[in-house]
Amino acid sequence: MRLADGIRGITASMRLWRRWPIWSLRPALLIYILAVLAAYALALAAAWTHTQLHASSLAVFAALLAVGAGSIELGRLVREPQGTLVKDLFSVWYLPVAVLLPPAYALTAAIPLQILSQWRMHSGHAYRRAFSTAAVGLGFGAASLTFHILAAHGGTAHPSAGTPAAAWVGAVIVAGTVRWMINVGAIAGAIKLSDPSARLRGIAFTREPLSIDIIELTVAVMVTTLTALNPVLMALALPSAAALRRTALHAQLSSQARKDAKTGLLNAGTWQHEAAAELARAARTRTPAALAMLDIDHFKQVNDSYGHPAGDAVLAALSAAMSGLLREYDITGRYGGEEFAILLPHTDASQAGEIAERLRHKLAQITTLTDCGGDSIELSVTVSIGVAAVDPARPDLDELVAAADAALYCAKRAGRDRVCLSPQGSGELKLSQREPMR
Ligand code: GH3
Ligand code: MG
Ligand code: MG
Repeated sequence: MRLADGIRGITASMRLWRRWPIWSLRPALLIYILAVLAAYALALAAAWTHTQLHASSLAVFAALLAVGAGSIELGRLVREPQGTLVKDLFSVWYLPVAVLLPPAYALTAAIPLQILSQWRMHSGHAYRRAFSTAAVGLGFGAASLTFHILAAHGGTAHPSAGTPAAAWVGAVIVAGTVRWMINVGAIAGAIKLSDPSARLRGIAFTREPLSIDIIELTVAVMVTTLTALNPVLMALALPSAAALRRTALHAQLSSQARKDAKTGLLNAGTWQHEAAAELARAARTRTPAALAMLDIDHFKQVNDSYGHPAGDAVLAALSAAMSGLLREYDITGRYGGEEFAILLPHTDASQAGEIAERLRHKLAQITTLTDCGGDSIELSVTVSIGVAAVDPARPDLDELVAAADAALYCAKRAGRDRVCLSPQGSGELKLSQREPMR
């Protein structure tokens, strides 16, 4: 009886274990994440075998973690943004650990704060937290090593008056920058492996994320300097660091509110607003513009055959691919369930037809892995696209949408997986010539 219970228990835990979201990742991404976790575990083990525990170091470590935990509690009412890189400003507390204590502490510091924030904020998959803990730990471990090497060679172990203080701050900034490069590099690797068409520029290198990173680095350098002068002074930084964390999370949330959570594209309201503004601009500057309405073919069958989550994964994969295939200034939004609207500035009717044809062709090649009765299978779908260019007969957005919608209906009626062009003036709806694609 007991043995049977035991076996049943093991089988149940194996079943749960197999259902962990991490196993549904692409193999290359899974290997990458496991490699980063393994590197982190090795670095931790190697660092601690060379580090002796000192009461004074432990006290500074515990105090920094305690104020870091305090900043999580003070910022807890602000939800963390989902599905994006979260700038949580923890480095304000990690950088002093990296600079003032041996690398083993910096490697370890991420663990308690990430566990606390997972517990208090309940956000994201556990494997993502584990990966970002490893990436953050490795980043600050490297920062610590960098600082201690610079300090050993430049005699800048402590800030003191005059030139040594400048050299010390310089070494802290270099260390902070090293950790930033390692963190961004590690996360960029994960993003690229999960979605090769993702554009990293928008995620890490535009003005908004970069300005948060610069604010984070400067505040972290100040907190590090204060703590180096006297650890008690770190308490002075707590209120402003907590306020800064709240502001940064708010800024990220409000930029996320413009987006559709499932696809990362603009939501319908924001798309409408931005597309109308772009059309007004096109009319003012007398430049061409066109609209493509895109609808996934027989999408209901995907849901019916493989389930809603598989349908969601297809939506996300197509949306990511669309962003990669279109130009930076094209305005792409999720118009409805499985329907997308793309406003193409500086594009006349024939160019819009070519863009739509290329999109149709490339999107049909996108595959999404899904679980089907224990087997992993590759799903792909086709899309139909209706295109309408701006002309004097339809100067505003509503008329342009109606024309593109009519063209989309024409593409569906003609058999799907095709592009239909709305005529200029009073001509007939026309199916675009399907050309062989490379
Ligand atoms: P057609 O080729 O005529 O467009 O056929 P279709 O099956 O794509 O069109 P229909 O309008 O019959 O069905 C649209 C489906 O899209 C039904 C709905 O369940 C599904 N859908 C809409 N939004 C979502 C979503 O967010 N996630 C998932 N998984 N499915 C969605
Ligand atoms: Mg459809
Ligand atoms: Mg539809």
